[in-house]
Amino acid sequence: MFDAALLARYDRPGPRYTSYPPATAFTPQFGPGDYADAARQSNSEPIPRPLSLYVHVPFCFSPCFYCGCMRIVSRDPARTEAYLGYLQREAELTAPLFDRDREVLQLHFGGGTPNLLSPAQLERLLRSLREQFSLAEGSRLEAGMELDPRSADADYVHALAGLGFNRVSLGVQDFDRGVQQAVNRLQSLEQTRNVVEAARAAGMRSVSIDLIYGLPLQTVEGFGETLRQVIALAPDRIAVYGYAHMPERFRAQRRIRSEDLPDGATRNALLGRAVEALGEAGYSYIGLDHFARRSDALVAAQQQGQLQRNFQGYSTHAACDLIGLGVSAISHIGTSYSQNERELSGYCAALDAGRLPLVRGLSLSPDDVVRADAIQQIMCHARLDTAAFGARHGLDFDTAFAATLAQLAPLAAQDLVTLQPGLITVTPSGRFLLRVIARCFDNHDGALDTVRPLSRAV
Ligand code: SF4
Repeated sequence: MFDAALLARYDRPGPRYTSYPPATAFTPQFGPGDYADAARQSNSEPIPRPLSLYVHVPFCFSPCFYCGCMRIVSRDPARTEAYLGYLQREAELTAPLFDRDREVLQLHFGGGTPNLLSPAQLERLLRSLREQFSLAEGSRLEAGMELDPRSADADYVHALAGLGFNRVSLGVQDFDRGVQQAVNRLQSLEQTRNVVEAARAAGMRSVSIDLIYGLPLQTVEGFGETLRQVIALAPDRIAVYGYAHMPERFRAQRRIRSEDLPDGATRNALLGRAVEALGEAGYSYIGLDHFARRSDALVAAQQQGQLQRNFQGYSTHAACDLIGLGVSAISHIGTSYSQNERELSGYCAALDAGRLPLVRGLSLSPDDVVRADAIQQIMCHARLDTAAFGARHGLDFDTAFAATLAQLAPLAAQDLVTLQPGLITVTPSGRFLLRVIARCFDNHDGALDTVRPLSRAV
């Protein structure tokens, strides 16, 4: 049901809905006191939610030109070591805000390149986190790390498994040498295969691979070859992100020649090739950018109505409160979002002064809470039972969402959604335009997601 012409018609900027409202709606009025209030309130829920920890490690040893992540290019081990101390200090300030019996079920290290932390540094950090928080024991803890296969080998992966990590996610983007040169990321198939095989041998529960379409010099044939090579590695999950060229915002992207970028038709053909190849190889399309093997927990969670969407993409874990640690990290506690200082100097200065380093955030209004739920349903389950939804929130859906229904009507005429009494269903073609459909529920008009700012709708 992939329709390239339809996608081309709707290919314009839009939020990715890893949060609603998007991070651009966060304001500096939300401070550490509001965060402490949100934590206190979350402790007093009748059944407090479990916790999820995200640790951001910003350092990378070289810049990939397409990158829009918060990262600092540095090869200085002293900086990493000093940063580790700040993470520990932040954990010490944060943990007392949460009841000690709230179990941490998820731990995720992202970046940057978190595998620049040595096994010894990681062990120290984990010990400190265990002292501060109640991390679930053994395999009950879902512990993942984003890996750069250029700087991780089999020994490192086995060391990770020994520390309790059971998931890894590998950046690949494209194996074509010309594309890799154009984006300053030379990474061989062998390097990648070594890490994947080590993860399997070490008993990791899940291996994911990230690809990007729309990169300079990409061709449908070349990307098809990358897809063939990636499928042969048999990862459990594959993400295929669309590259958005925004050199005015991201300095590194200025090194990419705009004349080398594929045109709109080629971009859609690249995505079409991915959809076709991954479908043939037995991967299910989960939603925005994400594919998983039919045996994967994400597919089961989607079928059972349990799928969630958060800052790391799709997740099987029902509501956890998310505590973000590290420069630029985002937290989601109850009905609040907050984000740490994005500059390393400001992050460290706050902690040196004994303050939490968060500098912006948002307490969701009752209207935000309702809309966030509707957007979550569309993004995760491609349908919204408006009757059950109205009953859950104590409102008459057709009245409260009259403006949304008016915006959805032209999408229904294009066969992207079906509007029935009591039910909105995304059609198979509409599933490739979830962001366009979700945007009809968005009351923070025009705000763009800065968390992973690949902001084209397709
Ligand atoms: S893509 Fe990953 S490895 Fe490359 S610069 Fe960005 S964060 Fe670093």
